[in-house]
Amino acid sequence: MKASPHRHTTAEVDLVAIKNNIKKFKKYLGPKPQIWGVVKANAYGHGAVAVSQAIEKEVEGFCVSNLDEALELRENLVTKPVLILSGIVPETVNLALQHDITLTVPSLAWIKLVVAQDIDLTKLKVHVAVDSGMGRIGVREVEEANAIIDTLDRFGITFEGIFTHFATADEADEEKFKLQQERFSAFLNSLRRKPRYVHSTNTASALWHTHQVQDIERLGISMYGLNPSGKTLPLPFELEPALSLKTELTHVKQVQSGETLGYGATYETSESTWIGTVSLGYADGWTRAMQGFHVLVDGKYCEIVGRVSMDQMMIKLDQAYPLGTVVTLIGRDGVAEISATDVADWRGTINYEVLCLISDRVVRIYKQ
Ligand SMILES: *Cc1c(COP(=O)(O)O)cnc(C)c1O
Repeated sequence: MKASPHRHTTAEVDLVAIKNNIKKFKKYLGPKPQIWGVVKANAYGHGAVAVSQAIEKEVEGFCVSNLDEALELRENLVTKPVLILSGIVPETVNLALQHDITLTVPSLAWIKLVVAQDIDLTKLKVHVAVDSGMGRIGVREVEEANAIIDTLDRFGITFEGIFTHFATADEADEEKFKLQQERFSAFLNSLRRKPRYVHSTNTASALWHTHQVQDIERLGISMYGLNPSGKTLPLPFELEPALSLKTELTHVKQVQSGETLGYGATYETSESTWIGTVSLGYADGWTRAMQGFHVLVDGKYCEIVGRVSMDQMMIKLDQAYPLGTVVTLIGRDGVAEISATDVADWRGTINYEVLCLISDRVVRIYKQ
């Protein structure tokens, strides 16, 4: 979707907050692990290029989810290592190689397709994914990993890393986490040889299972200032949310009692009411489930009334406000605050999804 810069609907991204969050994490983990910043999905909606350029000195590498995200970083002069966290289309390995992008080997079947092509792979660096219980990608038996290592050696490919991913690191119940931990550890003990980097932790694992952090911490959501567990587990230190979502009143009117608002006429005024309209809707990632939640105007909570439409929605005001008055959807206004986690709780989802769904139509503005 095309960005709409002539509209006052913006996501403000505080790059200093992101840097501060990384610094706090480093202090928490100590000097040993490297921090690789996870900037997949356009840096969780914050803007992958701006974020990566801003934090390149704070991290040792980057993680993305596919080749196009990796190429975007290289095209924008990011020179540190970039690891793609899933298998890519085997026929595109040469393109990745040309841009010095580090790949994940999800299976023996995948690496066989890669080496069957007639290309020089001697400059390729890979990390082998281990499925210790997440059930997404990776090898489940150590024999398969050892066969992969043989193949890598035969073709002169650098076996740079091995990693796994935890499914329940953000939960209070630790049973599943411990099972995965034991499986990964047993796996490493039977591995033909260990690579330079062994890694297994995302934000939640590092926060609540700090002893598990190995050579690399793959830091995602907390870099952006959010708690991976939502409100379930307390953070050991405070984080600064980096993104705030704002718009302005484009239309203000007084509606008589007994009038209905929006598609489906789902809201009816019970008294004479000031109603504001804003230029933001589900095409901006502000889903229809947001009906009945609130926004901030002049430091006060105002209900979202009627259905959220594609490009606009209405809010109930406590008084008349001039056109252009700021409306905060995520962020602070005075002492009041709405977090991405509050929005997620209302929608019955997670803060990650709320951030990722903010569409490209919303212009990102950066605070250096
Ligand atoms: C997305 C992802 C991460 C980062 O997770 P956060 O919870 O955002 O820290 C780390 N590792 C892998 C494999 C991922 O897919």
